[in-house]
Amino acid sequence: MRYSNLHTHTSFSDGLHTIEENILSAIEKNMISLGISDHSYTDFDLRYCMRPVNIPAYIREVRRLQKKYEDQIEVYLGLEYDGYTKLENRELYDYVLGDCHYIKIGNEYFSVDHAKDEQWATIEKYFGGDAIAYSKAYFDTYVERTRINKPDILGHYDLSAKFGHVDETSPVYRNMATEALIAALEVTPIIELNTGAISRGIRAVPYPADYLLKEVLAHNGKVVLCSDSHDMKNLDAYFDESVELLKSLGFKSIVQLHKNKFEEVGI
Ligand SMILES: [Zn+2]
Ligand SMILES: [Zn+2]
Repeated sequence: MRYSNLHTHTSFSDGLHTIEENILSAIEKNMISLGISDHSYTDFDLRYCMRPVNIPAYIREVRRLQKKYEDQIEVYLGLEYDGYTKLENRELYDYVLGDCHYIKIGNEYFSVDHAKDEQWATIEKYFGGDAIAYSKAYFDTYVERTRINKPDILGHYDLSAKFGHVDETSPVYRNMATEALIAALEVTPIIELNTGAISRGIRAVPYPADYLLKEVLAHNGKVVLCSDSHDMKNLDAYFDESVELLKSLGFKSIVQLHKNKFEEVGI
């Protein structure tokens, strides 16, 4: 099948390659469409995000290249929208991915995503070493921000398990993750299968984990394949394996953005 990827980073935020390099690579891979989704501005953490001053240029550049390559590939203007972002001008984008990279304690934001040591220090300092309590704070945040922001796609859902601090087989953890997933799907029924942590050697499986993908299917959610690439060589990383995984779980289709609409495609 011809793939589409709606979660990609470029040199406008923390990706290695330019938007045009990514598009050319996607054309070479015979992809049907490509969404560019650099990080929204988070004023409390400047390590990965686009600065407000650069956002108009980002929008202009994606739109310019969308036109330039329209005969070869569909290009979409997206945004990886952190849950705590104050998003202005949402109507300028073709879609937004909703992700939670932080939990908020008091007036401070703590990264779930950045580094193992940083995440574990938060668990030790604020949750007394209890990874389940930390996970609960994350999933509560995820549902709350999804309800507020109503993104088009739910992004890297069980990110809180990224660094392996929590026992993902624990029934308490699984119930919590499942309940929050169902609540988030009620708002946004499209969720990404995100292979980014596999490409970076952090996890062996995508987000969401397979027990959660089964819940997506059971609750009529739709899956969109995304690689969360920061390097154009990973634009379709682990997509073949992900399609096999989805089939083994009973999925018959995925969704892709086509002519500005989410369309089901058989697998
Ligand atoms: Zn992210
Ligand atoms: Zn991302």
